[in-house]
Amino acid sequence: MMNLVVATRNQGKLKEIEALLSGLVEDLKCVADYPDFPETNEDGVTFAENALKKAREAAQFTGCPALADDSGLVVDALDGRPGVYSARFAGENSDDAANNYKLLSEMKEIHSGRTAAFVCSLAFVTPDGLEQVFTGRINGTILFQERGCDGFGYDPLFLVDGFERTMAELTLEEKNQISHRGQALRQFRNYLDKMTAFQ
Ligand code: IMP
Repeated sequence: MMNLVVATRNQGKLKEIEALLSGLVEDLKCVADYPDFPETNEDGVTFAENALKKAREAAQFTGCPALADDSGLVVDALDGRPGVYSARFAGENSDDAANNYKLLSEMKEIHSGRTAAFVCSLAFVTPDGLEQVFTGRINGTILFQERGCDGFGYDPLFLVDGFERTMAELTLEEKNQISHRGQALRQFRNYLDKMTAFQ
C-alpha cells in the first residue's frame, strides 16, 4: 500500500475519492493537511491540463505521490460552458448555490435540448516524474429546479441518463458506481493494481 496526497480542498470530491480508494492507500492526506501549500492557479483550458498542474504542484510540495481531480459540467446548449470554470461560474469565490442559480438563469429560455455531461480528469503524478491521466464522463439533463440534497455542486440539477433521479438523489455509493469521478477512480485503481503486480 502506498501513501497518497489528494490535491483538493473540495470536501464533496474528497468524500467520494476517499470512499473509492479505501483499502488501497495506507496514508491518505489532502492538501489542507499542509497549511503552507499554495493555491494552484487553474489557468488550463482543459480538465486534464488543470488536473496535471494541481497534481504536479502537490507532488513537488509534499514529496508524495499526488492525485488531482479537475472536473466540471459541460452543457451542450451553452457550447460546453461552464466547463473548466464550473467552480467559479458565478464569479471568483462563488458557492454551489450561486453557480446553480446562474445555470438556471442562463438556461431559462431553453425548453428542449437541455443535455449535459459531467466530466472528470484525474491526474496521478509521482515526485520522480511519473504522470498518468484518467478520464470519466456521465451524461444527463439539466432540470428546471433542484431536486435532492446529497452530493455537491450541480448534482441537484443533473438528472442522470437512464435514472429517474438526480445525482443529489443518489447515495454516495450509487453516485460513485456511475459518476465521472467514479469511472476515473476505478481506472486509477486498475492502473495501480497492474503497476504493483510488476513490482
Ligand atoms: P474544480 O475544483 O476546478 O475541479 O471544479 C469542480 C467544480 O465542478 C465543482 O465545484 C462543481 O461545481 C463541479 N463538479 C465537479 N464534479 C461534480 C460532481 O460530481 N457533482 C456536481 N458538481 C460537480
